Amino acid sequence: MPASLAAQLYARLSLDRRLGVKFIALAPATRAAWLAAAAGKKIDKKIGAETGAKKNDRKIFAAPRAPVNSDAPASAAAATATPAPLSPTAAPSPPISPTGEPLRQTEPRLTGDAEKLAACRAQFAEICACRACALGASRRQVVFGEGNLDARLMFVGDYPGKDEEFVGRPFVGNGGQLLTDIVEKGMKIPAGEVFLTTLVKCRPPGNRPLKPDESAACEQFLRRQIATVKPRVVVAAGQTAGQILSGRQEEIAALRGQNFKAGEATVVVTYSPVFLWQMRRKYGRGNDYDRQTWADIQRALRELETS
Ligand code: SF4
Repeated sequence: MPASLAAQLYARLSLDRRLGVKFIALAPATRAAWLAAAAGKKIDKKIGAETGAKKNDRKIFAAPRAPVNSDAPASAAAATATPAPLSPTAAPSPPISPTGEPLRQTEPRLTGDAEKLAACRAQFAEICACRACALGASRRQVVFGEGNLDARLMFVGDYPGKDEEFVGRPFVGNGGQLLTDIVEKGMKIPAGEVFLTTLVKCRPPGNRPLKPDESAACEQFLRRQIATVKPRVVVAAGQTAGQILSGRQEEIAALRGQNFKAGEATVVVTYSPVFLWQMRRKYGRGNDYDRQTWADIQRALRELETS
């Protein structure tokens, strides 16, 4: 399927979904094509894997419109640089595409300081080789995270979903677009100035809830990413990420509204973008969860301004 046709199909399906029309069943190669079109990548329909060419990278890496504030020139400059994919020094895991063919490991798209890039290269290689928990056996590929390594703001989801695992990038699909809107339209921060990742780097089968041993095994990678990026504020966008970063095994309702610490960073807990998107479909825009999330985002903005 030509990439332009795939993009049209994806746009039509998105429109249909907004209008409440059920999805039609898609063949794996077709699904792969429109998923990749959503991610701005060409597809080889024979193997259902990306070919590497990239037409329209998503907005998260668009040129910044304005810096977060005047004391962040380095991150603004870094956001304009071409993202530098990393190559793992260790052999990556052998992911499988929906068509049953090998799917190569997507390299994270990162910008920023050279030392931080080198540190991430080592971490990425470790994660690609990791089998410390059961998720290492079932994953198709790992999702390292992406964005600006000089970011003052980091978002941490719980784990990669099906679409994230397929394209090897965090926060894609409807939830990802909602997060981009929150960052760019709500926080007025260019999306290319943030760093996005997840607590756990491998997808749980069927998007089931994480088991405690899986969160515990993968926590070290997130801690090292935070230590490398050194953000001022970390938004834990999900209950499990909030629990791990706060050190408290409480419901998300109890974790919201408080500030925690992860290294030098302030941690703010809020709902996951996917959950928010589901609540919008159910209750419409401006529902209680939207309002609560906006309160959390304003808290994060205040911390950014004062830190
Ligand atoms: S989820 Fe984390 S700890 Fe488990 S195998 Fe994947 S990288 Fe390793």
